[in-house]
Amino acid sequence: MGIKNNIVLKGIGVSAGIAIGKVFVLKEDDFKLIEKNIPKDKIENEYLRFQEAIKKTRLELQDNQDDLNKMLGENYAKIAKAHMLILEDPIINNEIKNIIATGKNVEYAVYKAVEKISKSFDAIKDEYFRERKNDLIDVAKKIMRHLLEKEKETLENLNSVSIVVAKNLSPSDTVSMKESMIKGFATDMGGRTSHTALVAQSLEIPAVVGLKNITEQVKQGMSIVIDGNNGIVVLNPTKETLENYKREYEIQIAYQKDLEKFKDLNATTLDGEEIVLEANIENPDEVKSVLKHGANGIGLYRSEYMFLTRKAMPTEEEHFQSYSKIAKMMMPYEVIIRTIDLGGDKISRLGLMNIGMEANPFMGLRAIRLCLKYPELFKRQLRGILRASVYGNIKIMYPMITKISEIKQANAILEQSKEELRKEGKSFDENIQVGVMIEVPSAALIADLIAKEVDFMSIGTNDLIQYTMAVDRVNEKVADLYNPMHPAIIRLIKHITDAGHRAGKTVGMCGEMASDPKFTPVLVGLGLDELSMSSVQIPKIKKVIRNLKKQKAENLVSKILDCQNLEEIETTIKQFKYK
Ligand code: PEP
Ligand code: MG
Repeated sequence: MGIKNNIVLKGIGVSAGIAIGKVFVLKEDDFKLIEKNIPKDKIENEYLRFQEAIKKTRLELQDNQDDLNKMLGENYAKIAKAHMLILEDPIINNEIKNIIATGKNVEYAVYKAVEKISKSFDAIKDEYFRERKNDLIDVAKKIMRHLLEKEKETLENLNSVSIVVAKNLSPSDTVSMKESMIKGFATDMGGRTSHTALVAQSLEIPAVVGLKNITEQVKQGMSIVIDGNNGIVVLNPTKETLENYKREYEIQIAYQKDLEKFKDLNATTLDGEEIVLEANIENPDEVKSVLKHGANGIGLYRSEYMFLTRKAMPTEEEHFQSYSKIAKMMMPYEVIIRTIDLGGDKISRLGLMNIGMEANPFMGLRAIRLCLKYPELFKRQLRGILRASVYGNIKIMYPMITKISEIKQANAILEQSKEELRKEGKSFDENIQVGVMIEVPSAALIADLIAKEVDFMSIGTNDLIQYTMAVDRVNEKVADLYNPMHPAIIRLIKHITDAGHRAGKTVGMCGEMASDPKFTPVLVGLGLDELSMSSVQIPKIKKVIRNLKKQKAENLVSKILDCQNLEEIETTIKQFKYK
């Protein structure tokens, strides 16, 4: 039977752009059940085989870690480090040894132990942690390959520019790849926080993951189109489909070229109003991309990611190292460090703190609430930030503020930290600015009171929409209710911005709404001073702002404020004429 044409597969687009090319199927290591009964006098030998396989896997992971560090930076190397922790995990190791003790071969024991442990991952609600099941399986496959003494298939074999199709890409797959040979990725497994997603975004290569069974449908060298914008993959595209995508690809290339012109220009409207465009980051390795895309600062450093990629709490010294590195690289621009926004869901699972599970962690003991309950944890971070502040233009931002007393308590701990440092003779920026995120309706409604207590405010629309609309921001079933154009959201933003300005304070936005060019005229019209977003979006937003008149944007907002519903608001925005 011949291969069908134009097979359209739907997955999750995790890195934007169109890629057209030929498939390179990366065959994965085997992971199947191989069962043998081992006579009693040979069981000792199985233990030795297991130890030997662990030793070889350890060496392989060590190599991966070094290579990843060189290629993608420290933060990605942490993935290999996390694999090392899995490899040495006593619970997994004991499970395997217990199965060997029953008279079974190591291959069987590894398979069964991983099957049992990985089942417990499926029940985890949090996507980031659920994804870690793939890490466990990756490590198990490596052990299995060493046991079976097989050669590893690698992306080093790639000798023509291709689109890589795989079940799942692990750090060890990506370390050996030649970047220039890869145009795109498509994988069966994976979600938004998978390793494939992180690598593709970092290299700015289009990628679609979660395609379920693409590896069963492709053949080596087959024609393929990856549409990372819409999470679509087309196999064996017809001439017509190919032509359409080629056109889109050419538009994309021309657009990217055009955007490069804006990199070093200010985001100033035609009538002279400058908006500061900044970047959101999650780790220091992203700073290169921030500078490459022409950001004028970091408007949100989500510092909690430092806690998520490791088992132990970061020390004050680690906080200090991470922040001072970013501050130095970003000089003279500002770096707004958001103090940790972790919830009980993550912390308890990491075993960092015994605070127990919560039925509703997004409304539970998280962010500033957690920090105020555990001041020593908070102080460690604040001291790290303060010490780093001498190396650049650092500002502090508290997340999930709901009332004034939280700001006062947090500031009291900040003052204690400053006092301690003074006594220890350690220097810091005595005038460090402190701001808050406005991302809960209660804070939005008292923005005038909050503005008097802080140096700046930044609107976190991701949570503000979630809590205002009572709609879980990651629940696809209610995604249609999650719309920044709801009159309630527009009015809240207006209220916050006006309140901030009346008090003479800067008002920024660091939620996803800031990164969508469709909303830019509205945000400029609402009077936001700073917009912070994923760095790749900066040139696009800059282009919009440079083609816009603030006066016209303000007229647009006046019209929108009279609209009765979001459909009306959307139509009004669509009809907006820039000139
Ligand atoms: C927000 O809530 O809009 C925000 C920027 O923070 P996060 O997405 O990290 O919750
Ligand atoms: Mg938030």
